[in-house]
This record gives sequence, structure tokens and C-alpha cells, in this order.
Amino acid sequence: MYSPFSTIEKDLRRQISGDVWFDLEKRTEYSTATCMYRVMPVGVVAPRTPDDVQKVVRLARDNEIPIIARGGATGLVGQAIGFGIILDFTKYMNRVVKISPDTLSMTAEAGCILNDVVTALQPLGMMYPIDPQSAKHCSLGGTIATNAAGSHGLRYGSTKNQIKSMTVILSNGDLCIINPKETENVLTAEASKRFAKAKEILSGNRETIERQKPKVEKYSSGYNIFEPLNGDNFDATRLVCGSEGTLAIVTEATMNILASPRVVLTVAAYFDSYEKTAEATQIAREYSPSAIELLDKSYTEVGRGLSPTSDRFISRDFQTMLLLEFEGDDAGVLRRDIQRLKERLSRTNLIIDWILLESDAERESLWMVREVVSEQLNRLPSKERKISTVEDGAVPIANLPAYMAGLKKILDKFGITFTLYGHAGMGHIHCTTLVDIQTASGRDRISGATQDVFELIMKLGGVLSAEHGDGFVRTPFLEEAFGKEIYSIFKEVKYSLDPEGILNPQKIIGKQDRLFLHDIKEV
Ligand SMILES: Cc1cc2nc3c(=O)[nH]c(=O)nc-3n(C[C@H](O)[C@H](O)[C@H](O)COP(=O)(O)OP(=O)(O)OC[C@H]3O[C@@H](n4cnc5c(N)ncnc54)[C@H](O)[C@@H]3O)c2cc1C
Repeated sequence: MYSPFSTIEKDLRRQISGDVWFDLEKRTEYSTATCMYRVMPVGVVAPRTPDDVQKVVRLARDNEIPIIARGGATGLVGQAIGFGIILDFTKYMNRVVKISPDTLSMTAEAGCILNDVVTALQPLGMMYPIDPQSAKHCSLGGTIATNAAGSHGLRYGSTKNQIKSMTVILSNGDLCIINPKETENVLTAEASKRFAKAKEILSGNRETIERQKPKVEKYSSGYNIFEPLNGDNFDATRLVCGSEGTLAIVTEATMNILASPRVVLTVAAYFDSYEKTAEATQIAREYSPSAIELLDKSYTEVGRGLSPTSDRFISRDFQTMLLLEFEGDDAGVLRRDIQRLKERLSRTNLIIDWILLESDAERESLWMVREVVSEQLNRLPSKERKISTVEDGAVPIANLPAYMAGLKKILDKFGITFTLYGHAGMGHIHCTTLVDIQTASGRDRISGATQDVFELIMKLGGVLSAEHGDGFVRTPFLEEAFGKEIYSIFKEVKYSLDPEGILNPQKIIGKQDRLFLHDIKEV
């Protein structure tokens, strides 16, 4: 039965303790995010409790209205918007619930901003190992839903590697606790059936799935059907992590935490070509750095003036810089490794300059450039705006040189201004393109370049997204990227867990226009 929205609004107000907004102003506010789209939602709810979430989901199910979970809205490809009821977790369900240094774990509500976790852990000498550049704004739930990673992913992996357990609400409103160990799950009867069905689908396609597992070091594209099955164990957290709110809604999670490293040393290494940067990246990995981050010259130029200290490091002649970070307990050992790496890169004529950053102030100044510029790119004062389509591809590390060269060739061919940065150490490059999408030519050029870059990634055995997810942008390309067989398994998995089809439709499973151009917001 379909109710008019005003009835739903009244029902919600009567049933839940959180806020309910169906007015135009709020709906407009939530119609966009850090992305290039605008889609008007039906209404917005800020739940206070898991019970609120269950009630909203049941009402939405009964009225066949989609539910879109939302955290910090920093998702870049339109995942946190859509026609439906937006559930904003950041207003009330945002607490760090418990920190347990003894068990190296931390529990927080889904809407908890990641930086609040960092701040809570710092006085204890502990850290949360996932450090995305958006940590000041993104939420724990959002990072789980996108399988976010940070600059130190080379050492600590992605969010999926840090989950101890999660409380989730399914599309029928049932609340469950899922764990890496299947036997520790706490499920309702209906939830048991749904997870058993998902497991059966993966078991039945085990060979195909194993054969087609992405060959890259990190991926956040499609569903992670590649890791949940291990022997007879079915780890539902691996499947839900990265599913962009399309399989379940997270209300709380317990994650790994770690003691902060005693010594951290950082190097700025300078290069005069992409080829040499890619080659040096491969060599540097042999010295076990915790981060190998790329910043090209056009990226650091946007960060000029942030501080006199960082300006000293970026006002030089170079095409790219690598920030190489080393963590450990013994400064002597780290310095020796760093010196050996420097000698090797000098001998092979790969670096043009090399600076070991001696103070915390120096280190922090360059990490600030890395962090702040990625935000500033969203607010450049020109008609050409940051467009996220090819911003998150990754390839096997051996193919990094070909990928960087290919990106440049394609974007030059389409006359698109771009900047490269990100997690080169894992074969993962953020490629920000600047385009005026208000013009037909701008839209044509970005569409053509996107198609060509995606084909290049596929040819090199890569994935279209390594940490941002698919959203509206990449969903229409997934069948081509993964092939029909795998995509049909994605579909089966989706409907095994969300037979109602109400959880964030058109993301991962969907067939909308490539680039969804008709809903692009005016910028
Ligand atoms: C400047 C900038 C820098 C960035 N740097 C990085 C980076 O270094 N690494 C990285 O991985 N990403 C990065 N991102 C991308 C983005 O920050 C991440 O994808 C982040 O994980 C999104 O979290 P969020 O809370 O903002 O989620 P949102 O944008 O609100 O939502 C993202 C997705 O998660 C789903 N979701 C949100 N909450 C829940 C929930 N409780 N239950 C189920 N689903 C939910 C939404 O439905 C949506 O599909 C960056 C973005 C920006 C703007």
C-alpha cells in the first residue's frame, strides 16, 4: 500500500524519538553531498536509537519507499543521496561508546565522525588505523559502507580489515549483530535465512568468484563477494563492508585499534617524470614504508601559501613528489633503511631531490598539504569544477607505470585539466579532473575520457574504485568491468539480503544513465 508522503511524515513523528523533516528547505539541503549530483529526497530523519532506525525501515518497507543511510556526506560519487528517506546518523547516533585498550578495540555509533575517534584515542597513545583525508567530516558508518582506506593503507589495509563486529538493520527492520566468525552472529530467524541464502549463492559460485577475484591490493567496487567465504566460515562483515548501504544499515561497530608507533619518519622525494615516480614507488615498497603518497606539481601548487614551512618544500622544480613514511620502534633501524633506499634511488637516477623531514612541524606541514588540497579542489574559484568519475582507479602495482602514462595520454587527448595524487604505493591513483559540466563540450569530453580511462583500467587488470565506491557514477559500468557472470552474482546477493529492494537503490545494482548527467547539480 502506498501512502502519501504527508501520512508517512505524521507516522514517523508519532513513532520515533528522532527528528523528522519533510520540508522543502531540509530536503534541498540533503539533496546533494560532496558530489556533482542533486536528487530530491522524500524526507529526512535523524534517528536517536537503533529502535528509531528499525521503525523508519519498516515504515519505508510498508510504503515501498527507499532508505538512504547517510554519514558525513563526503562520498564523492552520489552514494548518500537519492529519492527516498535519508537517515542522517551524524546528528544523534554519533558517540564513541567504549574504548578497550586491553582488547585493542573501540565501539562507536555509526554517525561518529572519524576524527572524534582519533581524538578519543590520542591521550591513550592509541590510534585507529584507517586515516582517510576526510576524517574531520566522514563517519564510521560511511567508512564501513565504502570500505574507506587511508594514507597508511599500505600497512593497515582498508576498513574491512579492522571490523570486529557490527550491529546492522536489515531491510525488513530486523536488528542483527554480525561478526567475522559466523558462529558468533546474533540473528533473527528471518536474518538467518537471508544470510544463509547469501552464503549459499557464494558457495554455489565459489570457483567463478575465486577465478575473477580482483588482482589489485584494494578495491571498493561492486560487492565484496571475493572474501566472505573462508573454508566453511561466512564472514558477513566482509560482504556488508563496502556495500554502500545497499545490503544493510549499520548502527554501531566495534573496530580494531592499535598502539601508536613510537617512531615515525617521513621523506619528501622529488621526481621529474611520472615514469620515474612509478618505478621508484615499486622499489620503495621493498623497504616496508607505511605510506607512499603521490602529490603531483599541480596538486601542491593549489596548496601554496598554506604555511611557510610547507612552501619551503613545494616551491621547487619537480613534476611529482612522493611522501614516504616509515613507522617502527627503533629510529636507528628506520634511518638506515631510509638511507639505503635513498642510495638506491640515486644510483638509478630516479630522484632529483630527497629531504628527510626532521621535525614534527615539517612532517605535519606536508601532510596538511596532502589533506587540505583534496578539499580545496572542491572549491576552486573557476567554472571548471572537480568532477569525480575516474578519481579512484587502481591497478596491480606492476602496471602502475602504464596506468600513469595512460591517464595522462587520455586526459590530454580530451583537453581535460587534471591532477594526480593519492596512494601510489598500492597502485591506486586519485585523478581529479576539472571540467565545466554546464557546457555540452565539457560533458562530452568528460564522458569520453571516463569511458577511455575505465577501458584502460580494465585492460590493466584494475578496478574502477579502490576506496570511494561506485555510487551513481560507476554503477552503470560495473557489468562491463566485472563481466556478466560476476554481476549476476552481485544481483542475487543484493536481493538475498534486500528482497524488498529499498536499501539505497541504483547504487551497485542499477541501470541508470552513464554518468547520470540529467541530475547534475548546478555548481
Ligand atoms: C576531501 C575528501 C577526501 C577524501 N579522502 C578519502 C580517503 O583518503 N580515503 C577514502 O577512502 N575516502 C576518502 N574520501 C571519500 C569519503 O570521505 C569516504 O567515502 C567516506 O568513507 C564517506 O563517509 P561518510 O560518512 O561521509 O559517508 P556518506 O558520504 O554519508 O555515505 C557514503 C555511503 O555510505 C553509506 N552509509 C553512510 N552511513 C551508513 C550507515 N550507517 N549504514 C550503512 N550505510 C551507510 C551511504 O548510504 C553511502 O552509500 C574523501 C572525500 C573527500 C570529500
